[in-house]
Amino acid sequence: MSTLSAEEKYRNFIPEESRDYLEKLFAGFKRTVTIEVYTADGEHREYNEFTLNICRAFNVFSDKIELREYAMDSEMGKNRNIIATPTVLISPDEYDIRFLGAPAGEEGRALVEALKLASKGADGISNSTKEILEPLEEDRLIKIFASPTCPYCPGQAINAFKAAVARPDKVSAWNISTLDNENMAHEYKVGSVPHTDINNTATFTGLEPEEKFMLQLLFLKPLEEVVEEQKTAKAEAETADDTVFEDIDLVIIGGGPAGMSAGIYAKRSGLSCIILEKQGVGGQVALTPKVENYPGFTNIQGFELVEILGTHAREYTDIHQFAEVSDVRYGKRIDIVTEEKTYRAKGVMLATGVNVRMLGVPGEDKFYGHGVSYCATCDGNFYKGGKAVVVGGGNTALTDALHLKHLGIETTIVHRGDKFRAEKVLQDSVRREGIEIIWNSQVSEIIGEDQVESARLINKDGTENILDTDVVFVAIGHTANTQLAEKLGCELRPDGFIKVDPNQRTSVERVYAAGDVTGGVRQIITATGQGAAAALAAFDDFTRLFDDNTENGKNIW
Ligand code: NAP
Repeated sequence: MSTLSAEEKYRNFIPEESRDYLEKLFAGFKRTVTIEVYTADGEHREYNEFTLNICRAFNVFSDKIELREYAMDSEMGKNRNIIATPTVLISPDEYDIRFLGAPAGEEGRALVEALKLASKGADGISNSTKEILEPLEEDRLIKIFASPTCPYCPGQAINAFKAAVARPDKVSAWNISTLDNENMAHEYKVGSVPHTDINNTATFTGLEPEEKFMLQLLFLKPLEEVVEEQKTAKAEAETADDTVFEDIDLVIIGGGPAGMSAGIYAKRSGLSCIILEKQGVGGQVALTPKVENYPGFTNIQGFELVEILGTHAREYTDIHQFAEVSDVRYGKRIDIVTEEKTYRAKGVMLATGVNVRMLGVPGEDKFYGHGVSYCATCDGNFYKGGKAVVVGGGNTALTDALHLKHLGIETTIVHRGDKFRAEKVLQDSVRREGIEIIWNSQVSEIIGEDQVESARLINKDGTENILDTDVVFVAIGHTANTQLAEKLGCELRPDGFIKVDPNQRTSVERVYAAGDVTGGVRQIITATGQGAAAALAAFDDFTRLFDDNTENGKNIW
């Protein structure tokens, strides 16, 4: 007989390192949130069980989470228009926010964000979103197709949930897991996630900024001119200044390994700090299928490592996810502007990471989301049993190729050089797995009708050939996100990364940088080390510069 109570079993279902975080989070909820779970016997048994377990655990964690369970074919299921098992509804008497499919991995993160939003209600919605959606007169059904391994998906799902909370009378927001809703994903021609469909009329691929998402939702099409018009209108409205300010020691921009480790070190030094992350935490690591070179972990999935780092960092500091910094202004206090508030900080640490580099060849834009992808972890599953080309010769390309091969995809690496720059251990694995390599070749065009059918290769000797493939994964490196650094006047290196000294100080006093945005070897271990060094440098500088908080006898704060 089991010695554990049902409650203990459900608690144990959630990894220990996440329990505390969730319990604290739910305890802070102002309003009770209802979760309804609908399942059908026989179908998707494992997904149903997983979903029930996670929701029961949430219910055990807090009396602010109320749980109701129904059969899909019950009267209630019919009333709520349930079409898939499992389905999770969030506060369904108020909103139509639902998860079709088991909310695992990154989708679990979206579920927690949905609960947070439902607990805050209209208070959690920005004024700009409320204003944009105010004129909405017709109904909108948003379907976000997502996958458990896609770190960009929760951001897009949150956009949809915010719309559903802002206009519960008009907007429905469904997060659809492609893992257990394959037919629906096929019907909607989903080739890359997040994939957004609104009213079966407008489709968008990728994660979009909140304001753009809301405008597209309102106008049901990608209207860049409307975005511009709305921005101008908003800028005018903002001249009536109602900005909220918060004084703080250090603002860390970017929630990857560098930012999270800086948060731990800054707080332990006694600095007040916050981490602002415009997407979900984790940065590039969240996209890495397997990490085998982070000391202490012989082999760990990228998103698992992110979970551990995030839980550790949250023990010390707040991490605001999906909080984009729109402006920075340098002065005695450095203003860091977000939609919610403006932080007035003694210093700022830039851990803004990198963006993927694009090939820039015909067909790349056209097929993005339909056979061109920059995230093998997100989109690999769609091509099981098919053929893939991976472009690049670095660690990412080889890790991606191995991941795809393990999914059962016939994979070819196309590399412009005659040797890889990836680690030897990855090169050995690629050789051992028998992955085909085409050396000295560039992809010059991606070809197809509705879907990718082949790639044109141009070889060093000038000859061309066509390689049949269902998908091209581009893994040719990154460009540094230096817009904020440039705004602050930081010097850049000739290769475009931020120039830093050995203590991670940039050329501008009280501005620090760490992680991939500073170039170099760009490893998780170096990013965490740099984050720690930056926080300690900030502590030293603030102690020296602000010890008595005065300058020429006057208090400067
Ligand atoms: P990377 O190391 O910069 O490699 C980029 C690759 O793309 C190179 O092979 C380069 O060719 C090729 N390339 C660049 N521009 C190209 C173009 N226009 N057309 C065709 N090919 C092009 O990038 P990465 O692999 O994304 O890695 C970035 C950083 O993250 C590295 O420091 C890496 O070590 C790190 N990382 C680490 C791990 C891990 O430790 N497990 C995993 C992933 C990434 P050339 O070689 O000819 O220049």
